[in-house]
Amino acid sequence: MKKILVITGGSRGIGAATARLGAASGYTVCINYRQNEAAALAVVEQINHAGGEAIAVAGDVGSEADVLRLFEQVDQTLGPVTALVNNAGILEGQMHVEQMDAARLSRVLATNVIGSFLCAREAIRRMSTHHGGQGGAIVNVSSIASRLGAPNEYVDYAAAKGAIDSFTIGLAKEVAAEGIRVNAVRPGVIYTEIHTSGGEPDRVERVKASVPMQRGGEAEEVARAVLWLLSDDASYSTGTLLDVTGGR
Ligand code: NDP
Repeated sequence: MKKILVITGGSRGIGAATARLGAASGYTVCINYRQNEAAALAVVEQINHAGGEAIAVAGDVGSEADVLRLFEQVDQTLGPVTALVNNAGILEGQMHVEQMDAARLSRVLATNVIGSFLCAREAIRRMSTHHGGQGGAIVNVSSIASRLGAPNEYVDYAAAKGAIDSFTIGLAKEVAAEGIRVNAVRPGVIYTEIHTSGGEPDRVERVKASVPMQRGGEAEEVARAVLWLLSDDASYSTGTLLDVTGGR
């Protein structure tokens, strides 16, 4: 059976690492991205150059129309999805709760939570054994912020990732009998661009002092956990929240 993997936010960071590793593990890969076409095409090129098969599809996961288009394009170009990684996420700048407005909350929840929900729904419509699908696996990329918070910084992001954790646990139970496993990874500090997007270039250095392993993680170290949860090696794991944090 052809294994088809959709990764949201696959143009950079953890998503790009997961796309490369997924292709090397035998998946045909669809990389979704929001705007950075050059980066997405570079990942596709790397995968194809290494003998894999990949396409890139633009779309904002917070937009229902874009998500419907994304999965239709996967159907037409590759076939029905068998694995989904809900990885697209945003972290806005450091801000005290008193300054946060509804527009910011809407942006953060749209990408991190609504996007994961919509993509999972479209994947389940195709995977469910209850209507002729082959089953499948979904991994949501949460964050250790859901468990530890981030004092005086990103309570919106922590809340969004907390919603991802609850979504993972609830959805896993809901679709377990339909041949679909749903799990999450909760990365700690990982060296990607998301850390400089909030205007804090020293954040990684500051945060890693609190990591028992005394370093941040590489995107590939998260990708390996994601691929394990997608694989048959994790065939009896569902509703699991797997921390990838260097012991934090
Ligand atoms: P990056 O900022 O490096 O990359 C983000 C990716 O998401 C890009 O591909 C971007 O596309 C895409 N994206 C953003 N918004 C949307 C959207 N609305 N629709 C579709 N794609 C979108 O992030 P990371 O690799 O660091 O993070 C990946 C995930 O891991 C996120 O969910 C993040 O919250 C989580 N995480 C990261 C940690 C870290 O330390 N790095 C720690 C804990 C969790 P484009 O290139 O087009 O902009």
